[in-house]
Amino acid sequence: MKFVDLLAQHQSQKQELDDAIQGVIRHSAFVRGPHVDEFESSYADMMGAKHCVSCANGTDAIYIALRALGLRTGDEVITTAHSWISTSETITQAGGHVVFCDTEDDYFCIDTSQIESRITERTKGIVVVHLYGQPADMDAVMEIARANNLWVIEDCAQAHLAEYKGRKVGTIGDVGTFSFYPGKNLGAMGDAGCLVTNQDYIADFLTLFARHGGKNNHLMEGINSRMDGLQAAILNVKMTRLKAWTETRQELAMRYAELLSSVEQFTLPAVRDDCAHVFHLYVIRTPDRDGLRAFLSVQNIPTLINYPRALPYYQAYEYLGHTTDDFPVAYRHAGEILSLPMHPFLADDEQIQVAEALARYFQYCR
Ligand SMILES: *Cc1c(COP(=O)(O)O)cnc(C)c1O
Repeated sequence: MKFVDLLAQHQSQKQELDDAIQGVIRHSAFVRGPHVDEFESSYADMMGAKHCVSCANGTDAIYIALRALGLRTGDEVITTAHSWISTSETITQAGGHVVFCDTEDDYFCIDTSQIESRITERTKGIVVVHLYGQPADMDAVMEIARANNLWVIEDCAQAHLAEYKGRKVGTIGDVGTFSFYPGKNLGAMGDAGCLVTNQDYIADFLTLFARHGGKNNHLMEGINSRMDGLQAAILNVKMTRLKAWTETRQELAMRYAELLSSVEQFTLPAVRDDCAHVFHLYVIRTPDRDGLRAFLSVQNIPTLINYPRALPYYQAYEYLGHTTDDFPVAYRHAGEILSLPMHPFLADDEQIQVAEALARYFQYCR
């Protein structure tokens, strides 16, 4: 059993992918070019966004968005205590000061009731993360942002096609950022990323900044963050399946919930009202996480911990001097979370095997 089965995914589209790759070689369109243009317009259409600007990876996407929104040295940016470090390291790289917020017990996203108490006169924006594929509480985020004149970046690296009240995540705030790292819900065969926005001036800046500030006349210093042709051509093929794969993930999640409903010792992932969760990860919680994980591993059931610590408790953020009392929910979650196998090619019998092993552990081993 695999945690994520990329080989099965690629076999399912082998001919189309091979043709796409050969097409890039034939055109020698290796960096940007027609495949990248096609990607940008198809992705914008699929998202219902006015603009899509491609870049090299999902981390760059956040960094570029922060620069586009005018972050300056010393500015403060509020973000969640529970994410992959790209979310916060880019704030620092762009000259900002990271201000963490605790997370929701049910949904793992930023606890919006705590945002306002962290706003100072130096706060410029909020970076929310739709963690594991669950939309953050965007109504609350946008209301706070509007009332305090803050911008909002949505880190959608785990949330392609997730919806909040009928709207695709990434199109609600000022900029949405995406990663196409191979294991993401839409993955390239290498690194790739993009940004979406409905605002023309932001799109112009994103394009300029990611391409050295312009070609014939450098209007400013930028960075070099480009999607290459091979990745774009591959993504163009895979994008046609994303909706179906997403639906399969949602069905698998419902099935996990049915299969596991009789086991009481852990908490299953909840879905926020009026939202479409896209289950990049299927994360359960149990105080006996480490014992369970070891037991599953012996039965060749792969699991992951996403992530072993809340961000403020990594060495990288020791300088902020936080204690475990500052983010009690995120701190507790880090010791309880376990990601079960979840991908569109997970077979029925594999899922049953996972569920039975979980039930066995709580029946006999405790
Ligand atoms: C994967 C991920 C990123 C970064 O994407 P890369 O393409 O790996 O740079 C950012 N934020 C979150 C929440 C992610 O899961």
